[in-house]
Amino acid sequence: METLEIIVGNITKLSVDAIVNAANCGLLGGGGVDGAIHAAAGPALFEECVKLVDSLPGHRGKTGEAYLTGAGALPCKYVIHTPGPVYYDGNHGEAELLAASYRNSLTKADERGCESIAFPCISTGVYGYPKEEATKIAIQTARDFQPRSLKRVIFCCFSERDAEVYRRLLNG
Ligand code: ADP
Repeated sequence: METLEIIVGNITKLSVDAIVNAANCGLLGGGGVDGAIHAAAGPALFEECVKLVDSLPGHRGKTGEAYLTGAGALPCKYVIHTPGPVYYDGNHGEAELLAASYRNSLTKADERGCESIAFPCISTGVYGYPKEEATKIAIQTARDFQPRSLKRVIFCCFSERDAEVYRRLLNG
């Protein structure tokens, strides 16, 4: 994947084909970016998530997996919900799981023919993943991805400080 972009902003405002939600395994909303996405998307997204959860084994999502829904009232076409890993100490498979969240989200978008996808900084909020390490994984996984339809991967940082880390690691 060649075109990686960094922006600072609110992911719910982006008119891209797909935005990624840093979800939890319950897949029915939560705090942080998950709460912001559900608040802006409205009840249509929530209802779709209820149906999605009903269809899953154990009625739960899996860490590192990615699940695609419509986008309710959001300006994007799809929301891809991925439960990122909770960070313990780095010795619990966190890096592989975070890479899987990025890779599976890219695959889901690509399979739907999306040309653009925007990611938040998965797992770096309440899930506690160290930002620098999480950013390296985000960039490397996107770079390694071989797209069919995707042309743009956008890292949507919520703060200028997060964006600085992305800029440094993308150019360094
Ligand atoms: P996690 O549980 O995966 O750690 P969080 O939602 O707590 O998820 O945080 C993930 C990242 O999303 C954090 O960097 C946070 O600053 C960012 N974030 C929160 N709200 C938004 C938003 N509206 N748009 C983009 N990023 C956001």
